[in-house]
Amino acid sequence: MLFYTESPLKFAFSKDISEFNNDSFKFEANTPQFGILGVPFDSTSTYKPGARFGPNMVREASYNLERYNLHFKKNLEATFYEMGNLEVVHGNFNQTSKHLESTIKEIKDNLIPITIGGEHTITYSVIKGLNKVNDIQDTTIIHFDAHMDLREEYMGEKYSHATVMRRITDLNPKDIIQIGVRSCLKDEESFAREEGIKYYTSTEVKSNINEIEKVISNINNPIYVTVDIDVLDPAYAPSVGTPTPLGLDPYELQRLIHKLQGKEIIGLDVVEVSSSSLGDITSINSAQVIYDFLSMQ
Ligand code: MN
Ligand code: MN
Repeated sequence: MLFYTESPLKFAFSKDISEFNNDSFKFEANTPQFGILGVPFDSTSTYKPGARFGPNMVREASYNLERYNLHFKKNLEATFYEMGNLEVVHGNFNQTSKHLESTIKEIKDNLIPITIGGEHTITYSVIKGLNKVNDIQDTTIIHFDAHMDLREEYMGEKYSHATVMRRITDLNPKDIIQIGVRSCLKDEESFAREEGIKYYTSTEVKSNINEIEKVISNINNPIYVTVDIDVLDPAYAPSVGTPTPLGLDPYELQRLIHKLQGKEIIGLDVVEVSSSSLGDITSINSAQVIYDFLSMQ
């Protein structure tokens, strides 16, 4: 008798991390390999909580994707390992951040992290973990988001989903490109201008996506990609911490993700997914972003 059993706590098509942990395991030279890491942390969410369920909901949703990619006319062949979820300390970003940073340091020589959130704050810890070896001073951060996340502090918190890009600015990446933004404070906009942070509003994506595709194509240094899934219109991603109307559609996001093909990517994350039921469209569209990224490897 044959049983078909999905492993909904693993991303579809991923390899088991026990293989990676095996002493005799050897990496294939010159082939990028990825590690999927869930970070179920949501302490500073101010509107809709629930991003702690994101990692498992996105993995579950990934089982509806098929290995053959009609766009690239090939099977998904990237090597990627499912690492499970980070042990987080709810209500304590400092502890969670330390744990995440050290986990990233542990894997980064061998695996490029693909992190599923969790609130956006965790991106800071991932980039901090990558900093020493990958030297993010040479790195462009591509930031998909409805929000700039450039506040100096939010509700008294220095580390928050609303301040995460400001904290990443403190780490001195080469540059930051924000795509799909449509909500911020006047101070955040002024800060972006003063610091030379490029930003493209969702209206600019709608009216001139070709120009943004060119901007991505012209990057010749390492790239870290952070996707706050609220960059999509709430029609396509209602289960997020801060739903904001007039966003991108999944096709526009996919076109821009596809422009990353052939680039040196040091990490990707998809954050702010707070789906809480099976088949929720937010987790389906989030799984699609990771699938699109892995399919073009
Ligand atoms: Mn956002
Ligand atoms: Mn964000």
